[in-house]
Order: sequence, then C-alpha cells, then structure tokens
Amino acid sequence: LEERVFNFAAGPATLPEKVLKKAQSELYNWHGSGMSVMEMSHRGKEFLSIIQKAEADLRALLNISEDYAVLFLQGGATTQFAAVPLNLVKPEDSVDYVVTGSWGDKAFKEAQKYSKPKVIWSGKSEKYTKIPSFDSLEQTPDSKYLHICANETIHGVEFKDYPDPKNGILVADMSSNFCSKPVDVSKFGAIYAGAQKNVGPSGVTIVIIRKDLIGNAQGITPVMLDYKIHAENNSLYNTPPCFGIYMCGLVFDDLLAQGGLKEVEKRNKKKGDLLYNAIDESKGFYRCPVDKSVRSLMNVPFTLEKSELEAEFIKEAANEKMIQLKGHRSVGGMRASIYNAMPLAGVEKLVAFMKDFQARHA
Ligand code: PMP
Repeated sequence: LEERVFNFAAGPATLPEKVLKKAQSELYNWHGSGMSVMEMSHRGKEFLSIIQKAEADLRALLNISEDYAVLFLQGGATTQFAAVPLNLVKPEDSVDYVVTGSWGDKAFKEAQKYSKPKVIWSGKSEKYTKIPSFDSLEQTPDSKYLHICANETIHGVEFKDYPDPKNGILVADMSSNFCSKPVDVSKFGAIYAGAQKNVGPSGVTIVIIRKDLIGNAQGITPVMLDYKIHAENNSLYNTPPCFGIYMCGLVFDDLLAQGGLKEVEKRNKKKGDLLYNAIDESKGFYRCPVDKSVRSLMNVPFTLEKSELEAEFIKEAANEKMIQLKGHRSVGGMRASIYNAMPLAGVEKLVAFMKDFQARHA
C-alpha cells in the first residue's frame, strides 16, 4: 500500500487492492492456459468460463432472476442514453424523465432523438440537491417508461427508494452506485451502468434487462445497440471487452467474498456517515449542499466557506497522497468519491486531514 494513493476520483476510480494483485498474478499466464486474458479467443473455453462466472456472480450479488438478461456491452453509459429509447419505444412514444442532475439531463437530451421524452421533474433550479417526493410526480399517463439516474455522480444526489411508474417500466442509470447496496431488480425494466466506478475498468457497460422487453428495437437501431442481438449471443456477438469483463468478474467475486451487497452497504454507510458527520460538525467551515435524506454514499460534494482556500486544500491533500478531490468543473468545490473499493482508512485519513486543515485555517 505504501506507494499507493487514496484515489477519490469519480471514475475511473480506485479498485480493490486484492483484485489488482490477483489480476497481476494471473496476467502473464492465466490459470495455466499459457496466455493472458488479453490474448485469448473470446470464443475459447477459457474466456467462456470467465464471462459465465462473471455473469453468475453478478446474478448472485444482485439476486437477478432468470426473467432478466445480463449483458456486457461497450460504449459506456452514454451509449445507453440512446440504446434505451431505441430498444424500448417507438419514435412517437411518450417517455418520462426525472432529472436530478447532469447525467439524467444528458440521458433526456439523447432520448429526444429517438422518442418523445418529457422532463416531469427537474432539480436544476435548486442546483440539483434534491430528489422529488414520488407522490408529487405528474407522470404522463401513456408514458412507456420512467427514467431516473439512481445516483448523480457530479451532484451527489442518490435515490434511497424508487418511484413506481404509473404506466410502463422503471429504467435506471446506476453507473455510480452499481453494486454498492442491495437492489430489488424486479422493480426495474432495465438497469444500466458503466463499470468504471464500482466494478471494474472503463470499457464495460452492464445492462440488466427484463427478457420480455427485448426484441422491439426501432428499425434504425445499430446492431451494436440492439439488446436482442447481444442477448441471443450471450454478449459475444462481436469481440467483447474481454479483459474488462475479466476484471469485473474479479470484482464480483471479491464482493461475494466480502459477504455480498448487504455487507458492502454497511461499510459504505459507515464511510459515508464518517465523512458527512465531519462536514456537518465543522460549524460551517465545510458544507454539503445536498438534502440530508438523499445524500449519496458514493460521491460526496462539499465546499469550503472560505472558498479561496479550496486550491490549498486540494494541494495539501495531494501532498498527503489523497488525490482527485477537486469537484466537477461544472459545480466547483470538492468531491470525494468513496466507492466500494475506497477503504475505511482512506475516509478516516481524509476526515483527520479536514479537521487539521480547519484547525489551521479557521
Ligand atoms: N451516468 C452516470 C451517472 C455517470 O456517472 C457517468 C460517467 N461519469 C455516465 C452516465 C457516463 O458514462 P460513460 O462515461 O461510461 O459513458
């Protein structure tokens, strides 16, 4: 650990040390196959065993039933902003978007090209610090789906519960809180997530989709975006991101070994409480703008009352091997991303630093 930093980046993000070491030990010659995972045929028995175990372990983690397909795709969550409407609705169909941050807004904008989306609630005027009360949502009666971003990575706003769509299905972008806690997958028609926050390297995008929703893609849908093609071919229609899928598999295995997502959630709560308490108990020296009830356990944005000290804060933290604490350019301030793989020791060190910094600058 000595040369490693505590990396608070929002993604790509820190990965479990055990997983990195395991990948290192298997890199040169995977399980006696005489080659690395990067060199294998994606259709050979070795890689098939890797992708099948990855899928089985993810199904175990999230308790995903056989009614759902699990797809390992490419193109990032951004590609899913288009793939979701292309696969689920016709161009003239109404769909609803709850926009609780920049990512939900991007999803909505992309959906405009392939459907008739409506923003039925936006937190923009309150600087994306809230989640609406579900009773107050005015859902479009014939909407085919209701889209949410389960955790807004930039603004640090997280759904703690999920709205019921009046009509159609619930669709969620879970990129930044995927596998951070148990989720009742049966509440959703589709869930998608880029891997590069909680479960692996960038380049892998996971889609969990109810099987009966597959097979209705619009005619213009590129083959690479068609869920039916990927489901029928077990994510092996073309060459998948093999090494990335292998890394995700190692992470899933590690999460199961930690006791599953209930245990993972417990640890994430402990880390989140520690950091949010430090902010709230700083007498205004640090401030988190997000509504207390919907604060993200993954991305913790905060500002300094004396904003002129922010650059100094980031510099001093980096000197102590705590990096990537600068907030997103669109919101400023600081952001500590504390995904599954951020150890408690990293958050403890950050909190101790924050207290010391305050003592010196208050
Ligand atoms: N949605 C959310 C919630 C994200 O955090 C991100 C990436 N930061 C994206 C979508 C876009 O993902 P990608 O870069 O994998 O396309």
